[in-house]
Amino acid sequence: MSFSQLGLNSDILKAIEEQGYTTPTPIQKESIPIILNKQDVLAAAQTGTGKTAGFTLPLLEIMSKKTHKKENKHYIKALILTPTRELASQVAENINAYSKYLPLKTAVIFGGVGINPQKAVLRKGVDIVIATPGRLLDHVSQKTIDLSRVDFLVLDEADRMLDMGFIHDIKKVMAHVPKHRQTLLFSATFSNEIKTLSKSLLKNPKLIEVARSNVSSEQVEQVAHYVLKDKKRSLLSFLIHTGDWNQVLVFTRTKHGANRLCQYLNKSNITSLAIHGGKSQGARTTALKDFKEKKIRVLVATDIAARGIDIELLPHVINFELPNVPEDYVHRIGRTGRAGNEGVAMSLVCDEEFEYLQDIEKLIKTKIEVKDIEGFTVSSLKKLKVPKKDNNSKKNNKRTSKQNQSRTNKPKDENNKKSKSSQKKDLKKDIEDFIENRKNSAPKKNNRKITNDYRRGSGSRNK
Ligand code: AMP
Repeated sequence: MSFSQLGLNSDILKAIEEQGYTTPTPIQKESIPIILNKQDVLAAAQTGTGKTAGFTLPLLEIMSKKTHKKENKHYIKALILTPTRELASQVAENINAYSKYLPLKTAVIFGGVGINPQKAVLRKGVDIVIATPGRLLDHVSQKTIDLSRVDFLVLDEADRMLDMGFIHDIKKVMAHVPKHRQTLLFSATFSNEIKTLSKSLLKNPKLIEVARSNVSSEQVEQVAHYVLKDKKRSLLSFLIHTGDWNQVLVFTRTKHGANRLCQYLNKSNITSLAIHGGKSQGARTTALKDFKEKKIRVLVATDIAARGIDIELLPHVINFELPNVPEDYVHRIGRTGRAGNEGVAMSLVCDEEFEYLQDIEKLIKTKIEVKDIEGFTVSSLKKLKVPKKDNNSKKNNKRTSKQNQSRTNKPKDENNKKSKSSQKKDLKKDIEDFIENRKNSAPKKNNRKITNDYRRGSGSRNK
């Protein structure tokens, strides 16, 4: 099947061709006809499947029919909500590319940058707004945005928005968009929370599930290395040097962990920058740009900041620390193996993380291959200092997005005596930074929950 068979006009087809797309991806084949048919959509699509074009192309097609080339009256017809600034920028970049030959204007609205330039863009009139919920509501309260004529509402990476505690903001936004609209909800995972949200937002949605939900990308080779915690940094540097890797995305659980790792790598002659919620928007954008342009070899990221990172042919993703929310693993490794390219995701697993690994394997229904690296790893978990399995602690540590959301003010380290004091210090600093950031932000943001960056904990896994 070709894009032209999907009923897209020649201006869009030309733009897609320039992007080098020849065939629609499975999600695009499914979603484009449904959206063109004006139906609501609930789509469980893994990251890297081409979902952005899956919803933007048909929206552009419908909007371009309504907008005449010479018409210069613009009003907001489509609102796309994303959890992070990076994802908002990424979606906007895609839309700008696909709508290159259309008379449609796009604005990106997110916090961390001045509001006035955004107001100026909105004043001139735009057709499509891509926004993170907090800043969007700032505009709503200042009456600098009019959402009353929105025909299309898209929630992208809705699972992450829920994880980040945006549910209240989403509900507030709903009060400002027309009831009669077409709504599309995209989510990497298809949890019960997502199903509940979809019931309140969507009307008779068509379900699209191109890949099994909660299953990690098949293009990605997944490997785990069992390693002592204090050997992780030297193993990482060894891997990068010996493999001569030039573009490596490394995940840590905390902002301070990311900063410290960056310092270490730079000292080891591996150019790196960190990207996390504690960095200014300018610093985040520069880090991402330098990484994309291969000016630096390593980008060290926390989960939140990594959303929306879309780099063609990104070959290596390293979990320096495993996430304590198994779904985050799926999101992380989805940064590689995108759009048909192959990638490798490596996880450096220490004793405290065995339980996380178990949870991840359960979620992705795959046993991750364990590989030895002489001088660094241990072949058997028994060789690591594995604490005895404690059923109660396992029970207490069971993590779900919902629980993380409800206990965001009480990170796991506080409940888990096994945590190392250094981890506690990092977490404390992260929380202090978070509180400081909240103080500096608009009052309405007080409802927002502490995000993934601030969740952490430790667990144990016996083998
Ligand atoms: P997404 O899942 O939307 O984040 O897209 C992942 C990557 O796939 C992006 O780099 C897109 O530019 C690319 N992409 C989207 N659709 C296609 C297609 N039909 N053919 C090739 N690449 C695509």
